[in-house]
This record gives sequence, C-alpha cells and structure tokens, in this order.
Amino acid sequence: MIVELISVGTELLLGNIVNTNAAFLAGQCALLGLSMYHQSVVGDNEERLAETIQTALDRSDIVILSGGLGPTQDDITKETAAKVLNIPLVEDVHSRERIEEYFKNSQFKIITDNNWKQAQVPEGCIVVDNKNGTAPGIIMEKNGKSVILLPGPPNELIPMFKNDIFPYLNKLQPEIIYSVMVKICGLGESYVETKIVDLIDNQTNPTIATYAKTGEVHLRVTARASDDKEAKKLVKPVIKELKTRFGEHIYSTDENTTLEETIIALLKEKNLTLTTAESCTGGLLAARLTNVSGVSEVFKQGFVTYSNRAKRKLLDVKKNTLKIFGAVSEKTAKEMAKNGAFVTGSDVCVSITGLAGPNGGTQEKPVGLVYIACCYNNTITVKEFHFKGERNKIRELATVNALTLLRECILSNSDREKNAKEKTEKI
Ligand code: ATP
Repeated sequence: MIVELISVGTELLLGNIVNTNAAFLAGQCALLGLSMYHQSVVGDNEERLAETIQTALDRSDIVILSGGLGPTQDDITKETAAKVLNIPLVEDVHSRERIEEYFKNSQFKIITDNNWKQAQVPEGCIVVDNKNGTAPGIIMEKNGKSVILLPGPPNELIPMFKNDIFPYLNKLQPEIIYSVMVKICGLGESYVETKIVDLIDNQTNPTIATYAKTGEVHLRVTARASDDKEAKKLVKPVIKELKTRFGEHIYSTDENTTLEETIIALLKEKNLTLTTAESCTGGLLAARLTNVSGVSEVFKQGFVTYSNRAKRKLLDVKKNTLKIFGAVSEKTAKEMAKNGAFVTGSDVCVSITGLAGPNGGTQEKPVGLVYIACCYNNTITVKEFHFKGERNKIRELATVNALTLLRECILSNSDREKNAKEKTEKI
C-alpha cells in the first residue's frame, strides 16, 4: 500500500521548526512495510492545502496529515480535508465532553468559542482520543482511501500514532511485517555494505536496510508474510548469515538494547569491575555507562582529568611522559588506563585522550587525533584514531569507540582465559 505524508504549517516552511514529525512518521510507515513515494510541506493556506491533499489522494492509498488541528483561525487542516473529501462536519459529543474535562483539569478554566471548533468532526469518521491535548486525531475513509489527521505537537502526535494509528494501519495491510535490528560496532558503514552487497543486490523478501549511526552500523532485516511464524522463518537464515559475516562485531539483535547495556551485562556476567579515565570527552563515557540501571554493581569510578596536573595528581601519569610525548599520546593513554585500574583496584579501566578542537591542532597532532586505551588485568591495548567532524562529533565518536574497545578487550580476554583453561585441563 502507498502512503503519503503532508506536514501542515507555515512555521515549517519558514524554517522556524524542524519537521521531526515527518521523520518519525516516515520511520513508522517503513516499519509497517508501507511504501512512501512522496512527502509535502504546505503552509496554512486553504487553497494550496486542498490542492496538495487532492494530489496525494490521486496517487496514494493512505494520506497522513500532521498539524493545523488546533482551535485558532489558521488551523484549517480538518475543514480543508473534509471539504476535499466532500464530507460535512458534525459535532462529536464525546469530543465535546473531552474538551470540557480537559479544561476542568487545566490552569485555563475558560473555554472560548473557538475551542468548540475542535469538537466538530467529519461525519462518519473515526475519532482518535488525544490524551495529551485537546485536538483529537481523525481517520476518514472514502472510496477505499484513508485520510488520517494528527495534531502537530510531537508529544501529542507520537503517543497517538503508537497507540491508535499504528494498529489501524497494521490492520489495513494484508500482510504482516516482522523486522529484526542487527546492531554492529567497530566497523565502518562502507565496509559493512561491501560485506553484504550480494545479499542487498539479491534481496526481495526479507530486505536489508543499512543505517549509519555514530560509531555503529545498524541493519534492519524486514520480512513480509501472511503470519508472524512465516515472517520469522524468512528472517532467521538472514540473521544467521549476518552473524557468520560479522561475528562478534554484532553486539545485539534487539531493537532497544544499547552498546553500553551489553557491556554492563558482560561485566556483570564475568564479575568484573570498571573504571573510566577521560580527558577530551569530559565524562561522556561515564555518563553513557551510568545511564544503564544497575551499573553500580560494576562501575567503580569515573575520572575526568582534563588538565595535565589532574592527569598527574589523580592518575599518576609521569611528568616525563607528558613532557616528552604530550597529553595526547599513546603513552599517556596507556598510563591513564593502567593507573586508573590500579588506584581504584578495578579489573578494567578504559581511557581517552585526544584533541576535540576546533583549536589546538598542529600538523603533527591534528584536531581529531584521539588515543583510547584499555587495561584489562595488566594487559593494555591502545588504539589511535583520526576522527573527522565538529568538536561534539569527535567527542561522541571517541566515546562510542571507547565502548567498542572496552567490549573487544573483555571478549578477547575471555577467549584467551577460556583457551588457557582448556590447555591446562588437557595437560
Ligand atoms: P495546536 O492544538 O497546538 O495548535 P496543531 O495540531 O494545530 O496543534 P500546529 O499549530 O500546526 O499543530 O503546531 C503546533 C506546534 O506543534 C508547533 O508550534 C510545533 O512546535 C509543533 N509541530 C507542528 N508540526 C510539527 C512538525 N511537523 N514537526 C515537529 N513539530 C511540529
């Protein structure tokens, strides 16, 4: 089925607000397996809006409009859409009661005439409750087409879509859609794409879509089938193949699991404690790790040692190391990681030191140069990175790569320990 989006609002055309509703709705429609070929943005102008709705109806099965459902004169979406479909507006008793209820509980007690405008709905439509505002959502069905009107504020639109519109659209689809998100760390997007180019070229059902995230690549494998069981059966061999190709670089196949959550789970499983020692990321790594609930079982301390003095005082980085090699060097990163583990008595410590810019770069040490080290049971692994981008991008990339290195170290040490144990057992 073909779906089309129309975002209504002069504010959008002027660039006063970013069209986050379109991004959200497009993502949800893709999840539903609906085909989207067009999106439009139109101002609060009846003639142009009517023309846009008519064009959308001529070429799509479902038209979703967002914005312009409010009580003011410039909110014309409902009236215009009903006019294009030639459906009269009538008062909806339930909506009227909801408006009264909403105002009873709100700081604004007086209901003005234009608020009652929101109780007017196209005859025979499906009225969708708005639990976070006064404008209800509306679904009109005519000649095999559906026109869906949603309020503009994202805090109203998103829950309404998830609770009511998603299930409605899902029912319209003759097939069900099932998808699995394969989350990869430690590999670049182009490398990942070249490794699966054959799968992408030959894909029909399931399909594989690539999403580049900061320091990660996500692959969504989506199948359409008549039922859930059949769809899962189609997805299974593709996931297996991806696991063969990317091995331990896949950190999760669960949509909602983050990289830091998998690391905290690994640390818990192996009974390991962790410390972080950061310079240019100023605590971003510790913040991401401590976002995970239950992290206190494994996370001992997070150092933010921005100055050389702090690096010396708190992490015992040698004066000569800083003088000869500099704060942004492999040697400093190694000492930060080693001493961070030592002073806190942790099993693992990961350190970051680098140049986030925009100032301070030299030819020898340009902006974006970052060293990340990980000390695990006295073995230190260090990596040099040359990140591109703005200050915040560099800091984010440093953080996610520190998480990736941390994960790699835990996994490779576990493999080594397992092999050593197997050898001892054989002897
Ligand atoms: P209200 O009842 O608040 O008037 P509405 O349905 O009439 O809601 P608009 O008046 O078009 O919606 O927009 C209200 C606010 O919602 C905007 O000021 C903006 O903050 C947000 N908004 C509207 N459209 C979008 C969009 N496409 N993306 C993100 N935010 C949006």
